[in-house]
Amino acid sequence: MANRFDVAIIGLGAVGSATLLQSAERGLDCVGIDRFVPPHIWGSSHGETRITRRAIGEGLAYVPLALRSHAIWRDLEARTGRTLLTASGCLVLAEGGGRAADSFLGRTIAAAERFDIDHEQLDADAIRHRFPHFAAGDADHGCFEPGGGYLHVERCIATNLMLARAAGGLCRFGETAVALDPVTGGVAIELAGGERITAAQVVVAAGSWAGALLGEPFASLLTPTRQVMHWFPLDPVPALAAAWADGPTFIWSHADRTRDFYGFPSIDGGCTIKTANEQPPVRVTPDTMHRTAGPDEAAAMYAGHVAGRLRGVRADAARSATCLYTQSPDAHFAIGGHPAMDRVLVASPCSGHGFKHSAAIGEAIAQRLAGEADAIDLAGFALSRFDAVALPA
Ligand SMILES: Cc1cc2nc3c(=O)[nH]c(=O)nc-3n(C[C@H](O)[C@H](O)[C@H](O)COP(=O)(O)OP(=O)(O)OC[C@H]3O[C@@H](n4cnc5c(N)ncnc54)[C@H](O)[C@@H]3O)c2cc1C
Repeated sequence: MANRFDVAIIGLGAVGSATLLQSAERGLDCVGIDRFVPPHIWGSSHGETRITRRAIGEGLAYVPLALRSHAIWRDLEARTGRTLLTASGCLVLAEGGGRAADSFLGRTIAAAERFDIDHEQLDADAIRHRFPHFAAGDADHGCFEPGGGYLHVERCIATNLMLARAAGGLCRFGETAVALDPVTGGVAIELAGGERITAAQVVVAAGSWAGALLGEPFASLLTPTRQVMHWFPLDPVPALAAAWADGPTFIWSHADRTRDFYGFPSIDGGCTIKTANEQPPVRVTPDTMHRTAGPDEAAAMYAGHVAGRLRGVRADAARSATCLYTQSPDAHFAIGGHPAMDRVLVASPCSGHGFKHSAAIGEAIAQRLAGEADAIDLAGFALSRFDAVALPA
């Protein structure tokens, strides 16, 4: 098997599979390496769905990535006949109004206005009328983006990999990269079995394992965290089940603005819905993390978020599943050159909100690898903003 390439991508999840596709379609001789067989349930990119929107409350720098990602997914859909992005709409709701400029809702509205993204501001009556399954309080306010919705995540990754292979990209599944070794004209990747693969440029898109592979300063900077998703059954009330089936994705901020949760329409025809909230940023080790979610966690989710807010949702979870976020110190993306290995680009940990941007991140990285001009400026996500990276490793 060939072991010298223009480009090697370590990790073929959301970001790596998009990078492999974009690199292969640019004619680069490339290989993708993954320790599992993606799409799989061990990283950050499983559980059927991820919310996508273009009015990005996390920061204006993300909007071009989201806009471009939507365009790429629509193009992939046209080429394959597969549904990757369902535009169910996305509602960002703040209890008690919460439209201050520094609130998530306020920043979402500002992003929509700044980039002329189709949206509607809704008061509580309008929310309850349009979406009878949301028990909005009288002072609540929302921003509805009709072009938002959700991505079919496993299908997105499978489609990236299918098209990447069709374009000549090689996939090495079930292979773990254990070390990177700069050599003349490239980087040697050592696999767990002892084989070495050499590439002129290497992209590390290893998600929650990036710190373990790269060592310091990444091991300290990047914090893998355990997250839990819950699927709750719906009451067999036809009108509410229909509202859930036809409804939008949502991000719902509590009145105290310190907590929020999010959820999806029912994608199984009104039987269950998926909902979750962000877990505290407690560092875990992906290989030893507790992978089972207990009924107590589902009960806490229901009591703390669902009860009194989501109508027609039963308390006993149908199932729960764990997943991993990797948090950077400022919760923003970390994409850029390795401080000590100039042919290694680190491009993975997307701090819990990265799937919706992954198609454009893959394209932007491939443009850089191919020596093309950047269509989207990734400078705001550069690793050098962290003191630990700016200092010599
Ligand atoms: C519960 C939850 C909800 C989320 N909700 C949203 C949302 O609504 N919207 C949104 O946009 N984002 C959301 N996110 C975030 C989003 O899913 C992630 O940002 C994204 O999936 C990260 O992709 P990735 O490619 O960095 O990591 P992954 O998809 O985990 O890919 C990393 C890959 O690297 C491989 N790998 C690791 N180490 C090695 C090695 N040494 N050798 C070979 N292969 C290796 C792994 O097997 C894996 O396949 C959510 C995440 C979670 C967990």
